[in-house]
Amino acid sequence: MAGQQTDFYAVLGVSRDASPEEIKKAYRRLARQLHPDVNPDEEERFKEVTKAYEVLSDPQKREMHDLGGDPFSTGGGFGSGFGFSDIMDAFFGAGGGASRGPRPRQRRGQDALIRVDLELSETTFGVTRELQVDTAVTCPTCNGGGASPGSSPRTCDICRGRGEVQQVTRSFLGQVMTSRPCAACQGFGTVIPDPCHECGGDGRVRSRRSLKVKIPPGVDTGTRIQLTGEGESGPGGGPPGDLFVEIVERSHPLFRRQGDDLHCTVQVPMTAAALGTTVTLETLDGPRPVTLRPGVQSGQTEILTDLGVTHLRSAGRGELVVHVEVVTPTRLDPEQEELLRKLAALRGEDGPDVGQLTGHQQGFFNRLRDAFNQR
Ligand SMILES: [Zn+2]
Ligand SMILES: [Zn+2]
Repeated sequence: MAGQQTDFYAVLGVSRDASPEEIKKAYRRLARQLHPDVNPDEEERFKEVTKAYEVLSDPQKREMHDLGGDPFSTGGGFGSGFGFSDIMDAFFGAGGGASRGPRPRQRRGQDALIRVDLELSETTFGVTRELQVDTAVTCPTCNGGGASPGSSPRTCDICRGRGEVQQVTRSFLGQVMTSRPCAACQGFGTVIPDPCHECGGDGRVRSRRSLKVKIPPGVDTGTRIQLTGEGESGPGGGPPGDLFVEIVERSHPLFRRQGDDLHCTVQVPMTAAALGTTVTLETLDGPRPVTLRPGVQSGQTEILTDLGVTHLRSAGRGELVVHVEVVTPTRLDPEQEELLRKLAALRGEDGPDVGQLTGHQQGFFNRLRDAFNQR
């Protein structure tokens, strides 16, 4: 910034020893001449003039400027007295200096969202659902135009079709011109003298319709399916938004879903676990045999490939993970107890201290013990 500092005195066209009154006067004259409502091409110069005034009207900032410093580089540069933004607001309204004009009656409609509950089998294999959709649709009576049949919108008398009205207000800077959306036509620039009786002039009415939606296999809770142009119709006959169908998957009594894998638990009696067995499992694809090797333990898993949920974005399916839970018999009758005692004796498991302490990282502890024993 230093070295190419703007000479704010030159910007306002005043001498370096101008009095505060002279500075204010010069600014008023320039501001009226350069104000964007009068002179839209001069907005940049107007801002520069305003910046110059902000500095030169503040004794502290003026001194800094005279000494060659940058009054905008220090903290609180906009803080004292009134700020630059206050001045801009006074001229442009809070919305800033963007050029306005009549806003179109025709606008794009909003997107709509509906949720649909699906069973696990439906998210796995996909399903076609008939949904009841409640959205705004283009009014059939006026075709979205908003005027009752035979009539048509006409130019607003108040703003003469500009959609905004200019207002002159007095301020400490003198007369200031601001513009606001026209209240008579809500900024449209046109009024509808005889609004359509069906939609009240909005150009759309609410309607319930049924829509067939094809839901692909592999969706999950939170998946959104986008149906282009099936959302709310726009006001004034504008194009419709999109409809999003959000999936909510109901929980399944037997299968837990993790990504595209399914998990379930199979309980087997202790004797079957010791001898090995085959369990017929009712999967989403029908009954499937699961073979458990003799000696299978609680917590072991059997993996059935391609019986999980279909991948949404790639080929194939997840797996079905079967967790084994070995069930110890309870309520033994005398004969069963006798047999079990015999078995325990045969296996040398009938004394005390047949249980043993193990770490939960059993593999690690075994390897450690083996390493010690080998030394
Ligand atoms: Zn209508
Ligand atoms: Zn108007």
